[in-house]
Amino acid sequence: MTVTAVPILVVDLVGSVLMIVFSLLCLDHVRKLKRGNPTNLIWIYLLWVCTALTAFAISRSAGHILKQVLLVSGHGGAWAGIAAYSGTINTFMLTIVASITLFFERIWNIYGGIIKDRQALRDAHEELLYMNQNLEQLVAKRTEALARSEKQMAQADRLASIGQLSAGIAHEINNPLGIILGYTQLLLRGEKKESQRYEDLKTIEKHVRNCKAIVEDLLNFARSSSTKKEMIHIHETIDEVLNFVRHHSRLGETAIHRDYDPAAPPLLADEKKIKQVLINLVMNARHAVETEGTISLATRYDAARGEVAIAVADTGYGIERKNLPRIFDPFFTTKPTGEGTGLGLSVSYGIIKNHGGDIDVESAPGKGTTFTIRLPAASELNKGA
Ligand code: ADP
Repeated sequence: MTVTAVPILVVDLVGSVLMIVFSLLCLDHVRKLKRGNPTNLIWIYLLWVCTALTAFAISRSAGHILKQVLLVSGHGGAWAGIAAYSGTINTFMLTIVASITLFFERIWNIYGGIIKDRQALRDAHEELLYMNQNLEQLVAKRTEALARSEKQMAQADRLASIGQLSAGIAHEINNPLGIILGYTQLLLRGEKKESQRYEDLKTIEKHVRNCKAIVEDLLNFARSSSTKKEMIHIHETIDEVLNFVRHHSRLGETAIHRDYDPAAPPLLADEKKIKQVLINLVMNARHAVETEGTISLATRYDAARGEVAIAVADTGYGIERKNLPRIFDPFFTTKPTGEGTGLGLSVSYGIIKNHGGDIDVESAPGKGTTFTIRLPAASELNKGA
């Protein structure tokens, strides 16, 4: 051995030791990475490569160290015999690293495809779930709408036939009533105000007028006299109705709550007729609460449907279950003779239908009743035009 060969020998020895140390450090690091994410294909690949590289580094460095030791100790001949084995192990290890790389490249491509398919499947599944949910909601909505329109059609059918019959009778009665009223007024003119005959004729006149009012209601219901629609502000209309009813009944003793939705838009409606409906509902509510109880009037704007809901609720005696399907029928009344004609709700129903709206009732006997009118907002009617 020459003096100049000494540093190279040291470099070779130190290099060999460093190779083993670094490869072991790499192996340890990758093992930690893989432990953190055992299914990550990159870490699996690196672990295999680092294992093979460590094996290669150990075999190659061990070979070099052994070679230097044998040369220094004067057993150079022995190295000649071992060199071939050491070279074979190194070649074998490098071949393993190359094979793993090639093998992993293929696996990586397949894995990439699987990941893509899995993502596509997940997306499709989510989309299907979303569609399914929407479909369920849509079917529920449609079923509800169908049930509602079936109920309304049955109601409309019944009302139409009753309406035709009533219109015929009302028409026939209206003329004789007019004649009776005319003759009564004629006779009244010839009587002295203090006489008994004058009083009797006045009684006849009063009752004939009552009959005429009923017949008028009937005719309204049957042929729904022409409507004059204009822009109305429903809250003002409700306030006017409440003032009117207060002055004409004992409503002053009943607590009234108002809950108006400021977002409620104007309605295109016949104000006189809408007032008539509201008066009917409030008077019925007042009758139901008797002297104690509360009447609430609330409005809500449903922007999605383009509708304004007006609810007239009371805490009165409520409606018996068996009567609920009949309350909109003409002449259906539970009030004593002389107090109710049973025309208020049927006329109201006709008016609301004529405005393209809807009227519903919910009631719990002994607890109270809520009538809800739904009318299309004026903007919705313009859309339909
Ligand atoms: P009338 O008031 O002349 O009886 P309606 O058509 O207005 O005629 O009402 C029909 C029936 O509906 C009433 O007789 C009553 O039985 C029931 N009804 C209406 N509104 C109410 C209410 N707010 N609470 C309880 N029952 C009611």
